[in-house]
Formats: sequence, C-alpha cells, structure tokens
Amino acid sequence: MTKNTSSPGFATQCLHAGTPPEAQTGARQTPIFQTTSYVFKNQEHAAKLFGLKELGFIYSRLTNPTISALEERLAALEGGAGATATASGHAAQLMVFSALLQPDCEIIAAKRLYGGTINQLSTTFPRCYGWRTIFVDDRDPANIAAAITDKTRAIFIESIANPGGGVTDIAAIAAIAKKAGVPLIVDNTMATPYLCRPIEFGADIVIHSTTKFISGNGTSTGGVVIDSGKFDWAGEGDRYPALAKPDAGYHGLEFHQTFGEMAMTFHGHAVGLRDLGVNQQPFNAFLTLLGLETLGLRMDRHVQNAQAVAEHLAKHPAVRAVDYAGLPTAPDHDLAKKYTPKGPGAVFTFRLKGGYDAGVSFVDRVQLLSHVANIGDSRSLVIHPASTTHSQLAPEDREASGAGAEVVRLSVGLEDIADIIADIDQALT
Ligand code: PLP
Repeated sequence: MTKNTSSPGFATQCLHAGTPPEAQTGARQTPIFQTTSYVFKNQEHAAKLFGLKELGFIYSRLTNPTISALEERLAALEGGAGATATASGHAAQLMVFSALLQPDCEIIAAKRLYGGTINQLSTTFPRCYGWRTIFVDDRDPANIAAAITDKTRAIFIESIANPGGGVTDIAAIAAIAKKAGVPLIVDNTMATPYLCRPIEFGADIVIHSTTKFISGNGTSTGGVVIDSGKFDWAGEGDRYPALAKPDAGYHGLEFHQTFGEMAMTFHGHAVGLRDLGVNQQPFNAFLTLLGLETLGLRMDRHVQNAQAVAEHLAKHPAVRAVDYAGLPTAPDHDLAKKYTPKGPGAVFTFRLKGGYDAGVSFVDRVQLLSHVANIGDSRSLVIHPASTTHSQLAPEDREASGAGAEVVRLSVGLEDIADIIADIDQALT
C-alpha cells in the first residue's frame, strides 16, 4: 500500500486535525480537561514555562489541552499557522485588536457587519481604548483605500455579511491592505472554512464566532483568532509594538523575532488571554470539536435548504425582495460564485411588502422556526433585526448594514425543506 502523502481532505481534517488518540489512555474521543492548573515537574520547569523558554501547560486561562485541540483543528481547517480560542466571537475581536492597536489608532471596517460588532467598534472601543473605527461601504473596495491613513492598523470585513448575506470581495480588499502594509482581518463566521477560506484570497487573520455554524448545535459560545502567519509585523517599523518590539512582561522578548509565523498565536495566549482573561471553557471546546466533526455535511444541507427557501420566497406575493447571493438576480451573485462556490451560506434577509409591522407579525407567527437572537444552529432561526439585534443603531446605520424596518433575517436549518417552507408560508398568510 502506498502512503497518501498529500495533505488530508477537509472532511478528514474535521474529524482528525488536532485530536490523535489521547496519549496516556488511548481514549479516542478528546477528553475534557476540566482543570485550572498543571503540576510542574520542579521549580526549573516552572520558571522555563513562565519565561516562554519551554512550552507546556501552566494555567487554563492561558492554555488547556482540550482547547489546544480545538485551536489546532480550526487552524488546519482555515489553512492558518496557529489559532487562539476565546470565550466568544466578540472576545476574539477584542483580543485581535488589542494586539494590533494603541490608543489613537484606527480600524477601517465594512458598514455591512453584525450589529453587535458595529456597537463594539463604535462605542466601547473608542471609549475604553481610544481606537477609532471608520466605517465604509466595502461594496466598492476603493472606499477602503481612500480611508487609509497613517493611523490605520487593521482592516475588518465579514466574508458573508450578517444579516444581509452579501458576499465581500476579499481578494480586492486584501490587495489594498497589502499595499498599505495593514493586516486584513476577515470574520468568516457566516461562511465557515467549508464554504470559504479567506487566507487563500489574501486575508492575514481570520476570526470566528464559533457559537454559530462551527459548533453548529446552539450549545456553546466561543470564538477564535486564526493567524495566517504571513504578515511581517517586524517589517512595519514601529506600527505593531506588541508583536515586534521588546515586551517588558517577558524580559524584552520580541514575539515576531522569537516565534516567527506563530507570533500572533503566542502573543494571543501569553499576553491576550493572560491579560484580558477571555479564555474559552474546556466543555465548550469539547462540544465545538464535536460539532466540527460534521461541519461539511451540515453546511451542504444548510446551503441546499437556504437556496430552496430563497427561491420560494422570491416568488411569494407578500415578499418585496430576497437578498440571497445564491439567487442569479442578486448583485453579488458573481462574487458568491468566486468566494463561496458551494453556496453563500444559510443566513440571509428578505423584505416584506408590509413593512415594519409585517416583519414583527412574521416572527410572532412562525411555529417550527425559532425566534431567537442567534444564527448557525442546526434548527431554523428567525429574527426581526430592526427591533432587536440592530435596534441600538441609528436608522441610517441600520439601513447600511442591511437591517431596515421591513427586513426579516433567516438562518436556515437542517429540517426537511417541505416543513420549513410550510411554516414560512403559514406565517406569511
Ligand atoms: N460575528 C458575527 C458575524 C456574528 O454573527 C456574531 C454574533 O452573532 C459575532 C461575530 C459575535 O459572536 P459572539 O456572539 O460569539 O460573541
């Protein structure tokens, strides 16, 4: 028998990456290491671990074997050099920006973003940390180029935007970021690496809310920062001191010069998780690993059902428009074919002819669909963003992020398609 020397396929990685049989017992499923701390062999061993001179487990705010397994699997699936898991998607965003920005620095972000992210970037970040975000219409990437200043330290987009389901031109924006010497961070929550791998299109860092399709069953909040390992932090002068200048907390250690392509990942654990305390819990990591085992199978069914629902709604007399990039009439249909050839996800919006009242009435009348503030569950979910997830935004910002008054957001699940459509139809009647 000849050995297969090519890298394993996606489905194989979903099952095996990061999780060989457990060394001591041979346990085939990854154990939940429900422990806060790890016994040092002796004082010298402890001192080496604390000084990052030797790698090993110290304390579960920094690293934990179950969480390390999840990090390794997610890095493999996205084609990254390394990953740092966090307590939630928002924690991943806080952690990545805290490594890249100083007070008075700027982020350029797409206007089409999850409403909670817009809140985080536009209220708490400037108030607490002095990070300013310039929101631009990323449908024309030239707007991003025009917004870059010498204070820009990061460009932030979603591969598929929540709630509108629009597909972003990652390669065009990556080229602009590269020219400016600024990392491009892509929130790939809505696509997952099964539908789109942003690093292959030039993204430097991928983040996820693993709360959604990655864990898949609506059980666990979580997030992750996956670094491509390709950005030259030390080559950008004084711009990225956390990653490329001596760190006083580690006796002058320089992360990029010491850890190379793993700089962001080591910094994420040794400084980000240490100081921000936004670590994921081992049980959540275990459930997320379980969810990942079936990611490809689930995503195929999610997009198949989403396409069928979108086509049905597009013909429905109560519906003004359906914003799903899988429909040939959608303005970003060609982008969808390029970036998400297996299908542009399972979350999208549609607009009702009856306006705000029709949107509210729809979410009150569904029976099979669950009215919740979540996406990416195995069950079909629905919400009226203008009165909930996006209610804290000004009306014009709501419109810009795809959450106008008459908009309903669907996260199409894995049920039988006939049942999903029957429930939608009875709620629209
Ligand atoms: N990014 C996207 C695209 C999201 O939809 C969400 C949550 O809905 C987040 C980030 C934040 O993730 P979390 O709720 O895990 O903090």
